[in-house]
Amino acid sequence: SAIREGYVERTKTVCTYCGVGCSFDVWTKDRQILKVEPLNGAANGVSTCVKGKFGWDYTNSPERLKAPLIREHDGNQPYFREASWDEALDLIAWRMNEIKAQHGPDALAFVASSKATNEEAYLVQKLARAVVGTNNVDNCSRYCQSPATQGLWRTVGYGGDSGTIKDLEVARLILTVGTNTTESHPVLATRIKRAHKLHGQQLIVADIRKHELAERADVFLHPNPGTDFVWLSALSKHILDTGRAAQSFLDEHVNGLGDYRASLQDFTLEFAEAETGLSQDTLRQVANMLVAASDQTQDGGVCICWAMGVTQQMGGSETSTAISNLLLVTGNYMRPGTGAYPLRGHNNVQGASDFGAMPNMLPGYEKISSADTMAKWEAGWGVKLSREKGLDNTQMIDAMLDGRLHFLYLNGEDMGLTDANSNHAQEAFGQLSFMVVQDITMSDTAKFADVVLPASPALEKDGTFTNTERRIQRLYQAMSPYEDSKPDWEILQLVANRLGANWSYAHPSEIMLEAASLTELFAGVTYERLEGYKTLCWPVQADGSDTPLLYTEKFHTADGKALLYPAVYQPRAHAPTAEYDLHLNTGRMLEHFHEGNMTFHVPGIAAQVPDSFVEVSPELAAERGIQDGSAVRLVSSVGAVRLRALITERVQGKELYVPLNIRNAVDAVNRLTGSNKDTNTNTPAYKDTAVRLEVLGED
Ligand code: SF4
Repeated sequence: SAIREGYVERTKTVCTYCGVGCSFDVWTKDRQILKVEPLNGAANGVSTCVKGKFGWDYTNSPERLKAPLIREHDGNQPYFREASWDEALDLIAWRMNEIKAQHGPDALAFVASSKATNEEAYLVQKLARAVVGTNNVDNCSRYCQSPATQGLWRTVGYGGDSGTIKDLEVARLILTVGTNTTESHPVLATRIKRAHKLHGQQLIVADIRKHELAERADVFLHPNPGTDFVWLSALSKHILDTGRAAQSFLDEHVNGLGDYRASLQDFTLEFAEAETGLSQDTLRQVANMLVAASDQTQDGGVCICWAMGVTQQMGGSETSTAISNLLLVTGNYMRPGTGAYPLRGHNNVQGASDFGAMPNMLPGYEKISSADTMAKWEAGWGVKLSREKGLDNTQMIDAMLDGRLHFLYLNGEDMGLTDANSNHAQEAFGQLSFMVVQDITMSDTAKFADVVLPASPALEKDGTFTNTERRIQRLYQAMSPYEDSKPDWEILQLVANRLGANWSYAHPSEIMLEAASLTELFAGVTYERLEGYKTLCWPVQADGSDTPLLYTEKFHTADGKALLYPAVYQPRAHAPTAEYDLHLNTGRMLEHFHEGNMTFHVPGIAAQVPDSFVEVSPELAAERGIQDGSAVRLVSSVGAVRLRALITERVQGKELYVPLNIRNAVDAVNRLTGSNKDTNTNTPAYKDTAVRLEVLGED
């Protein structure tokens, strides 16, 4: 390594906390993190948020895993003991071979980490496919963004943001749906706020929670939970019916108008008002604003940003489709300041899918159903590949419970807390014959593993991440791996070679070269072209030219035209009842990242927000006699948790909000969320949960 002991080093890295992908220099002396200095990152300029600036101490947490751990038993009491890498790898290879011989390759499954690098996601899927022989591989976009990707594939072809984060500033109107952008994507939100405040950009925020961006909006829409599809489709119908669609854009670039119009028949403003609670006048006002901002003769237009409030519903794919349809009807693609912005959550959730950690696609979204594709990859890897579509994360849990899946390899995902209905997920782990978890600390899920492998986080390795705008960026090693931990790509290579492969990657750049040589999407990606602060937005042509604006003359479809995909409404399954009378919403908060298993290892952040809480409206608090700080118990049809109440006007009436992060796993919010899924992608419908609230009083 080029790291010099005892010297102050300055290393370029990329934030590990969200899909904005802020780049900056980190100053270190050995393992000491001295400061984070944003220079001129492509996505963030000179900005960062609290997590990017102060969120790195988990790297030096005393709770980091120091060595491989093997589960043992003292009578009935399980415990972990430290082991050498050789012993741990031998045990893993032996058990994987045994399970494969007994039950076949599809009895094994792999989950790639959306916090690890592109190269590491590539190796997880290569391990599954080329070494073990199964397509059972997925990543956590199954828990968040798969429906958004589905909506875009159906309509415009690529599952990615239409333009760059910077382009958002030139939009004339931003519509956000189901995203608490200020807290989930802080630096991106700053761009929207600046454009709104200084450049007259209009802002419409649709959400069931009145968060900070909603406070600033020109129009705040609070639809009934789970009804976004209805008002979005009603807007499209209303704009078409009143003759204000972008007709020349539709004629030139879009198929399917007739079938789409027919499918909208029921989505009148009257129906939308009844279903969503938004008045017809409000909907007319929003339609007028959209049409005015869509004027094709002016620069910029309408961008729609959305996130998990849309996707984590039973109709998440359909609502994402409705968003893209509305953009097509109003001609809002193919120019800077227009288009679809599904805001990716994890720092590399875009990249984990891009690089093939999906059960039906190889890297570059190349389909396993295509004979030509499979022949190309078989020649490239020198192995025969399975044509069987693999299991996604959700199906893996079911397959563990019904005895089809015997082995699980989890790379850096705390699946036992992040999957919906976590009691069910944890019960499933108990059914496995063998489980390997590769992570930086002992997560709640790792406690179920047979072998835990110590991995190195971002500051200890080289690689690339891809942010929400499809931008590939390099991170450089700033310090040596902690104790006996190793970068994920090195661990994966050791496992593959123990299983008989002959991988010889000396550096992640060689993995990227291989991926680029085999895919169209990354054909021109090289580490040289990504040196320092240089970046590339995919697709990247062989000559190195990239694509910040995804569509300019045609869409990514067979004939280059987009498709208006017919409307199909999927109402929520868990509307409140007499027994479970409150709607539960979940989401992120600024200080913590997801379940918090990195940020709770950052003492400064953990002290700021030490635990979770449930937001309760003033009306509900008055009705039930709840005080600020009262202990309450939330009970759903699948579980119960205990939290402190926080009374706030951010939530209204009988709606509650619980952040995802929690230090005490027994009370993790996913103890409450059920097993319903988006019907197209199996993404859990986390946002479709009804609960009752019991006041426990002060204690
Ligand atoms: Fe990191 Fe996102 Fe904050 Fe940027 S906005 S510093 S990527 S958490």
